[in-house]
Amino acid sequence: MSKSILSAREDFPILSQTINDLPLVYLDNAATTQKPQAVIDAISDYYRTSNANIHRGNHSLAIQATQAYENVRKKVAAYINAASAEEIIFTRGTTEAINLVAYSFGEAFVQPGDEIIVSQLEHHSNYVPWHLMCQRRGATFRVIPFDENGELDLLALQQLVNKRTRLLAVNQVSNSLGTVNPIGQIVKMAHEANVPVLVDGAQAVQHTVHDVQAMDADFYAFSGHKMYAPMGVGVLYAKRKWLEKLPPFLSGGEMIDQVTPEKVTFNVLPYKFEAGTPNVADVIGLGAAIDYLNQFDFAELEAYEDELLEYGLGLLSEIPGLKVYGNPKKRSAILPFNVEGIQHYDMGILLDSKGIAVRTGQHCTQPVMDALHITGTVRASLALYNNHADLEALARGVARVIRLLKR
Ligand code: PLP
Repeated sequence: MSKSILSAREDFPILSQTINDLPLVYLDNAATTQKPQAVIDAISDYYRTSNANIHRGNHSLAIQATQAYENVRKKVAAYINAASAEEIIFTRGTTEAINLVAYSFGEAFVQPGDEIIVSQLEHHSNYVPWHLMCQRRGATFRVIPFDENGELDLLALQQLVNKRTRLLAVNQVSNSLGTVNPIGQIVKMAHEANVPVLVDGAQAVQHTVHDVQAMDADFYAFSGHKMYAPMGVGVLYAKRKWLEKLPPFLSGGEMIDQVTPEKVTFNVLPYKFEAGTPNVADVIGLGAAIDYLNQFDFAELEAYEDELLEYGLGLLSEIPGLKVYGNPKKRSAILPFNVEGIQHYDMGILLDSKGIAVRTGQHCTQPVMDALHITGTVRASLALYNNHADLEALARGVARVIRLLKR
């Protein structure tokens, strides 16, 4: 039987803290989620019992640590339904995963006059690396706009794709508006024109059922710390055919086969893309986070979070002068808003004084803010341990700030 979602909150020790003498209401989960005790224990157990450098050692601890690390690779592959564990590359996070592809793919496949398409809804980490790659390779950077609901304009995408398009990079869920993009349809449109797709799953992999084979993405990137795992570890999934063709991104120890003054040959997959000593402890923490998440029924988890989101949107929409941004057909876990006449930054500081943690500003999506003609938003974002009481506290907190500043 799967674990009850309502029992999740007690697994996260940090949530029982007080902030400014009030119970913590943590609604900044899109920035990073809190960690369950099982993840915290897995990291400290690793350092207490198994710490050793992996792959190269032949003593017992090295073998134990290597096995633990490689087991997590298999868990990640199963979690996202990759065809094989060799298609899983550990990185520092989504940002590094996307940079890896932007560098390696750019070097191998992008020539002057070629084109790269990204969406206007992207986090800077799925925007800037492509911008820079276009500058390095003499390619043209194209952008799919979004409409007044915060949805991507797929007709515009259709018109942007052409024979010079080398790659499309798009997120599954927008971190500033929460739009759930129709990834299946987007991948299909791109593949019909022979264009590979990189999907940024940083705001999706912890909330929705995930299957990279069904999605048919060529590349899929995500961060551990947004899915209850530690900071400093992330994943690049890539179809084997691409990993075989791409040159390495970082080079050094472990990623090589032969090294002579004349030439260097590379290790097999996935090690060709994992130069140097990896972040073993946090990879093991990621494995513990996946074990933790696997206790829940994901369809139930998604329904629970969707209901929470609707409840929160309902409460916020009753507050006079409050505007929620975007109205996509499907939204996930993000409540972006502003109150007329109140700076988002001031709202954030005053909510914090009541123990309520939200994020304010551009959320690393300046192109989104520019399109909305605003300097930023207040963003409340949800995780599986949030509940109605958190959203009621948020609504009360916002109403209090309005009373305070508009008196
Ligand atoms: N992509 C999206 C959609 C995000 O929300 C974030 C972080 O907020 C990132 C990429 C970057 O993730 P990281 O900083 O963990 O590399």
